[in-house]
Amino acid sequence: MTLQEKIADLRTSALEKLPKIADEKTLNDFRVSVLGKKGKLTDILKGMKDLSNEERPKLGALANEFRDEITSLLESKKSEIEALIIAKKLENETLDVTLPGKKVTKGNRHILTQTTEEIEDIFLGMGYQIVDGYEVETDYYNFERMNLPKDHPARDMQDTFYITSDILLRTHTSPVQARTMDAHDFTKGPLKMISPGRVYRRDTDDATHSHQFHQIEGLVIDENIAMSDLKGTLDTLVKKMFGAERKIRLRPSYFPFTEPSVEADISCFKCGGKGCNVCKMTGWIEVLGAGMVHPNVLEMAGIDSKKYSGFAFGLGQERIAMLRYGINDIRGFYLGDARMSEQFK
Ligand SMILES: [Zn+2]
Repeated sequence: MTLQEKIADLRTSALEKLPKIADEKTLNDFRVSVLGKKGKLTDILKGMKDLSNEERPKLGALANEFRDEITSLLESKKSEIEALIIAKKLENETLDVTLPGKKVTKGNRHILTQTTEEIEDIFLGMGYQIVDGYEVETDYYNFERMNLPKDHPARDMQDTFYITSDILLRTHTSPVQARTMDAHDFTKGPLKMISPGRVYRRDTDDATHSHQFHQIEGLVIDENIAMSDLKGTLDTLVKKMFGAERKIRLRPSYFPFTEPSVEADISCFKCGGKGCNVCKMTGWIEVLGAGMVHPNVLEMAGIDSKKYSGFAFGLGQERIAMLRYGINDIRGFYLGDARMSEQFK
């Protein structure tokens, strides 16, 4: 058999096998076995050394022609196989609309956030501004500006976390009042603000105490502000929060930054005042502390206490939420158990 005949044979068998190949690996094996360095074509061409000078180029041309033909066929076969793979993949990935979907769980805002926003809405409706403050405060703003000089015994009521002897985690939102008073321009109108936020006390956590909790502090300063303005404001607040039938009762109390100071009680929303377990049989529930701003607090902010007066109040979102929803352990707000929040969607 001549070398030409051998190439013709190889071509015949290659053209027969190639169309039957259906995967990339077989195709590659085929290429190596026919055109590779140790393949059949190389093998045939080894016989070229026995050819005459005339025959050799002819055979070379024939071999190149064969190689080009097979190479081009291999290329198109390869594309064909790749197209098949993609088609098959697409077929397997067909969307089955009858399958049940993956459930996406939807979160909701924490009950303390909801309570804060509800109170904010009430005061925005009465023309108050909402002011944010620092959780890390100075002793000066947290205590001294609230009429609690160093060594004042009432500081013990608010034992806090000190960072240095002058820097601490705020024990109440009151420093925001002092900072807002400093910045307010009374020629442009009265000061009416609330400040919600997180506060810290060095308390041991139990069902009714937490080392961190929330407060909303309110402050109004203008000429001729009287106790009746405070009472009217608190009355509006508790009626919106706890129901239009609620009555309010003010009892004398003590805070260093207000004079006079009061605790505000509301008539029990569960029994209507007859006495029950929520109001501990008294008919009244304590909800917040308030008072007329102490003249010292005004003067320290550079406000003339002969000309201006004001009232302030503070309430705790945890206490409000616990009362309204019958939550009996304050730690529930902070444990991060989603079941707690899911109840308040
Ligand atoms: Zn009651």
